[in-house]
Amino acid sequence: MSAVTSAPADSSAFAGADAAALLSALPDPAVWVRADGHFALNTAARERLGAVDGLAQNWALLFSVAAAQELRDAVAQALRGKVSCLSVTMPGAVAPALATITPAGPGAALLHFRESHDPLEVALEIMDRMGLGMTVQGADSRILHANTLAPAILGLSPEQLTGRDSLDPRWQAIHPDGSAFPGETHPSLVALHTGQPLLDVPMGVFHPAAGEWRWLTVTAIPRRAPGMNRPQQVTTVFADVTEGHRTREDLRRSEQRFRSLVEATSQIVFSTDAQGHFDGRQPDWEAFTGQSPEEYLAGRGGEAIHPGDLIESARLWREALQSGSVYDTEHRLRRHDGVYVPMRIRAVPVLNEDGGVREWIGSYTDISAVRGAEAALRALNAELEGRVAVRTQELAEVTRFSTLLLTAAGEGVFGLDASGRITFANPAAARLLGYSVERLIGSQQHALIHHSHPDGTPYPLADCPIHQTLRDGQNRRLEHEVLWHATGHAVPVSCVVTPLFSETGAVTGAVLMVQDIAERLRSQSLLQDAIEDLERSNADLEQFAYVASHDLQEPLRTLGSYAELLSRRYGEQLDGRANQYLGFMQDAAGRMRGLIQDLLEFSRVGRAGSAPTPLALSDAVQAVAHSMGAALESGQATLEWDTPHTVLAHAPLIAPLLTNLIGNGLKFTAPGQPARVRVGSRQDGEMVYITVQDNGIGIAHEYQERVFEIFQRLHRREDYAGNGMGLAICRKIVEHHGGTLWLESTPLPDPDHGSTFHFTLPAAPDPRRQDPQQQDSQRQDPSHA
Ligand code: ADP
Repeated sequence: MSAVTSAPADSSAFAGADAAALLSALPDPAVWVRADGHFALNTAARERLGAVDGLAQNWALLFSVAAAQELRDAVAQALRGKVSCLSVTMPGAVAPALATITPAGPGAALLHFRESHDPLEVALEIMDRMGLGMTVQGADSRILHANTLAPAILGLSPEQLTGRDSLDPRWQAIHPDGSAFPGETHPSLVALHTGQPLLDVPMGVFHPAAGEWRWLTVTAIPRRAPGMNRPQQVTTVFADVTEGHRTREDLRRSEQRFRSLVEATSQIVFSTDAQGHFDGRQPDWEAFTGQSPEEYLAGRGGEAIHPGDLIESARLWREALQSGSVYDTEHRLRRHDGVYVPMRIRAVPVLNEDGGVREWIGSYTDISAVRGAEAALRALNAELEGRVAVRTQELAEVTRFSTLLLTAAGEGVFGLDASGRITFANPAAARLLGYSVERLIGSQQHALIHHSHPDGTPYPLADCPIHQTLRDGQNRRLEHEVLWHATGHAVPVSCVVTPLFSETGAVTGAVLMVQDIAERLRSQSLLQDAIEDLERSNADLEQFAYVASHDLQEPLRTLGSYAELLSRRYGEQLDGRANQYLGFMQDAAGRMRGLIQDLLEFSRVGRAGSAPTPLALSDAVQAVAHSMGAALESGQATLEWDTPHTVLAHAPLIAPLLTNLIGNGLKFTAPGQPARVRVGSRQDGEMVYITVQDNGIGIAHEYQERVFEIFQRLHRREDYAGNGMGLAICRKIVEHHGGTLWLESTPLPDPDHGSTFHFTLPAAPDPRRQDPQQQDSQRQDPSHA
């Protein structure tokens, strides 16, 4: 801020000061009148005349009638360019005031009323109104006068200020660089001692009231009495410029910061004139490129730019210069050692106040590290993208496969969230329950399709095993559940519920796989029906066979008895032929008896009897050998056995089983070869395998199953006795024990002819009795028997 001094002689001190501001600061009333009647009052006139600015000719009404007429005349004179002075009594005033009426520009006049005032008072008042502090100090430098603002600006009371001088030890002042500002160097003292005015001296003073430093601009004007060498007084005017100082300080600091930033991040900072030529020495440029000032100031700076980049950079630089916009590009710059370094260049225009470009400030930043990092990043990105592509492909495959699988699956698959809401359903699930997939998704599984028990009573959610899995995270298999179809009927299903877990182990939902078991249940029930039918008809048949064979015995016995009676009593009276016929009859009756007994035996197998008991096979074979003593004693046959195992069986059934099989072996012998039958056993798990092997005539392959049927025989009775019931009874006995009976056989004329019958029986549970070492193996031959 430029100083305003009280020295009227120094008119330059008012240079630039606003006339209106001065006028309004003037302590004398002043009225500005225009020819068209507009008028304006300064502050003092407003206070003094109690009026405001107005229109028309009525400005004269502000004054007494006598004064008004004189003033109107004077104004008319002034409008013609003449200055006049009048003595006018202002309204309410006692003493007359001196009115000066002067021309004030074209068509205007200024009326200035000067009531008698001390000029010093006026000056102090003006300073107050201008917002400046002012003091007047005597030759001893003590303050004689101060305006109202002076103590306020300095943070002191008027009493503290008056009588004080700049040498007062309480005075604290500093220079802008922070160094002390001693009292004896204060502008007022210097002016007083030297007689020279000091203008606009910056000074920091401590403001006790605000408790902070304030910045002042101080101007001191010495006043000399005419004819005196040394000034008797000094007038000091000062302004508080703290605000401006702070702004400048902030500006300086931010500029400093900006500069440090640019210097820290840039290799080269340069400046050019508005036309883009280096303006003066560029130390950074010199250091980096090794160019001499003569070179680059002569416009050869471009030689340091890579030839491949030069044309484009120059074009952009021209564009920036023309448009005044930021220059931002990259090019390679040759370092002093000849290596080209990739650089980013930014230059910004610095503008004048009128908006024109004053200069350009630019910086070069080495971006080789950035380029390297970019290249590495690009390589990394490419690799990552490759991996992502592969992984995405794999995932897509898996997803497609799972989707296909789920879509194609015949089983219904539901996904449930932790609350039991359906989040997924495959087409099979939708088909099974008659809903669309869209309808299922988002619904509560239990409420929609699982709400009731099979009998229709409500199924509370708390009892639902599927929800139980959502609570406890356990897998569940539910064999007989019912889900409800959209049309309201029950769908019998078996389900598997598999929980899903989050990484922290919390149950996040479940997968529910559902299989429609309606078909299975139907076929199961059909099978059950068939079994029951069969059992019933079997029982009926057995009952029939039993009853029939039992009842047949009675007439047969009668027939046999009478045939025998006939033969005994009348045999001698009958001729040879009649006796022969009678013999046939008795023979047939005997066979019939055998048949009926076998049939009875067959039908008895499987009738509820006593529980099976452990039976040593060797004992059983031994007993059979004993009962067949005669056949074996003939010396034509051999029976051997090696059967150390114990079976769990009905002893009364095992005897006929072994008797039949061994008997057949001894019966169906090849002509001219002594019969040889071997019985063996081995244990496999819970079953004992038993074989009865002979060297007989064998059975042709096509008959190997037929021989197990009732009354099926392959030979005439004349050749081999029998009725064809034996093997049927054997199979029934074995099956009744839960075993199976089958045969292997090679018929004559094969030299290895013979048959082997295999059957299984349950092993007795006690392992100690199964120990082969404990069992004696025996060999039975005719002499032994
Ligand atoms: P049967 O011995 O009373 O004739 P089976 O039911 O015991 O009746 O046998 C049925 C038929 O099977 C026999 O007639 C015979 O033809 C054939 N068969 C049974 N066992 C043997 C065997 N060990 N060797 C050759 N044929 C046999």
